[in-house]
Amino acid sequence: MQSNICKTVGDNNYKTWIKPLKFCGLDGGVAQFHAPTNFFGNYVSQNFGDFLISQIAGVNPSVRRLAFKVADAANSAAEPHASKPEVAPQPAREELPGAPLDSRFTFDSFVVGKPNELAHAAAKRVAEGGPVTFNPLFLYGGVGLGKTHLMHAIAWELRARNPNLVVLYLSAEQFMYRFVQALRERRMMDFKEMFRSVDVLMVDDVQFIAGKDSTQEEFFHTFNALVDQNKQIIISADRAPDEIKDLENRIRSRLQSGLVVDLHPTDYELRLGILQTKAEMYRAHYPGLQIDDGVLEFLAQRISTNVRVLEGALTRLFAFASLVGKPINMDLVHDSLADVLRASERKISIDEIQRKVADHYNIRLSDIVGPKRVRTFARPRQVAMYLCKQLTSRSLPEIGRRFGGRDHTTVMHGVRRIEELRQQDGQIEEDIEMLRRALEA
Ligand code: ADP
Ligand code: MG
Repeated sequence: MQSNICKTVGDNNYKTWIKPLKFCGLDGGVAQFHAPTNFFGNYVSQNFGDFLISQIAGVNPSVRRLAFKVADAANSAAEPHASKPEVAPQPAREELPGAPLDSRFTFDSFVVGKPNELAHAAAKRVAEGGPVTFNPLFLYGGVGLGKTHLMHAIAWELRARNPNLVVLYLSAEQFMYRFVQALRERRMMDFKEMFRSVDVLMVDDVQFIAGKDSTQEEFFHTFNALVDQNKQIIISADRAPDEIKDLENRIRSRLQSGLVVDLHPTDYELRLGILQTKAEMYRAHYPGLQIDDGVLEFLAQRISTNVRVLEGALTRLFAFASLVGKPINMDLVHDSLADVLRASERKISIDEIQRKVADHYNIRLSDIVGPKRVRTFARPRQVAMYLCKQLTSRSLPEIGRRFGGRDHTTVMHGVRRIEELRQQDGQIEEDIEMLRRALEA
């Protein structure tokens, strides 16, 4: 195993981050390690966690999670995220197939800004645990915008307010896994009974069950049974219910029947707020470390994808700074984050759009920019123009020039036409979404 790990993470990483860990036992599915500091544990968990779990699970398949402890108690008091201890599962809950809650994902550590204030308010309301007013609460938004964080925060708070409440959190994937397992082991009755006996059910990333017919069916029944008992259900997905393809209509309308709130992409202020909060936590842990003015602002400006990437960048900065004993300044940013900055620089080009669209409709690139007006070429051409307008900062005349020297009014007409068609024609809508996702990937 050691040589395997070494090969994958590299000699240096192995020496710096893996070797200092001391294995100190198994607890349930959790492999426990001693780490020199909490920061160290966090870093290992963020950067090598999944890989280490896969390695350990190769030897002992029951291992599903890692935990890092610091031998020295004084040290762990300064742990940035240690505010809420992980609650040990109570015996009555042991049968429940929920996923563990991340102790860092609390309301305290969630930074609220314009893009997420509604979702946060709704989550807070549900976490109060009063009479069920909206069922389900449906949270949606792009990757890394805080859906899982908010769900865990709700679970923590509900449990803190009422330790007897049975709160079950799991991903839709785990739901399916349990369901298939129950089928295989002929234990469907147990499965049904267990899911129907919880007080609060939270299913994360529900888009996963789209297209999986029998899992959908079972989910639907579970859902109805709980709603009938007036039990709170909280669902997350990466898009709105009516945008999830291959979902049965009755499920879709069930999902829409409560409160649907979305987490919008972060804005600069929220990103800066998150960075400042996290930097504050790290600084409490590393009192000697300085951060130059402008560094956090630069990161908030440049890394606009998702919060996970933003956090990863900050973690890495602190790790490097503490390793080399230097302050966090712009030099260090460029040295240690070159790859992240390069990735966030990626801009979508007109060329790329034209190629992707031609591929998608199975026509030649020359037909996209060429003069032929038949529908088979004209429609894809308009789609491509539309995407250029949406995804690049090019002006209409510029776009026109790149489409075989067309006039800007032609481009404008094409863009308008596609806007109309998106409303009327499901196929066009689907094409556009698919192309957009492929281009932004
Ligand atoms: P999602 O489930 O939407 O993909 P997560 O909830 O896993 O995203 O969030 C990704 C990371 O970003 C987590 O570490 C989370 O703590 C952090 N994060 C996201 N939004 C916020 C926020 N508003 N305040 C603090 N941390 C956040
Ligand atoms: Mg998530």
